[in-house]
Amino acid sequence: MENLLFIIVEHGMCFHVYGGNVMAKCPNCGTNVSKPRKKWKMAGRPDSKGKRTQLEIGIFDCPKCKKPFRAVLSKKKI
Ligand SMILES: [Zn+2]
Repeated sequence: MENLLFIIVEHGMCFHVYGGNVMAKCPNCGTNVSKPRKKWKMAGRPDSKGKRTQLEIGIFDCPKCKKPFRAVLSKKKI
């Protein structure tokens, strides 16, 4: 699971924020999806200073191609 998460982060599948609304872009067809079906928080691997990055991950369902995809909602050091 953590490996998958880092693949997502490394590929830059991050959220765009438009006027306070988070939007994720479907990697299959490019449709913007505004509301995650599910979201959760997860702590990543510690860096060289021992700080971990807490990520908030969302699962989205694309209304166009019907494929679920994940995106990173927010990142912060904890
Ligand atoms: Zn799609």
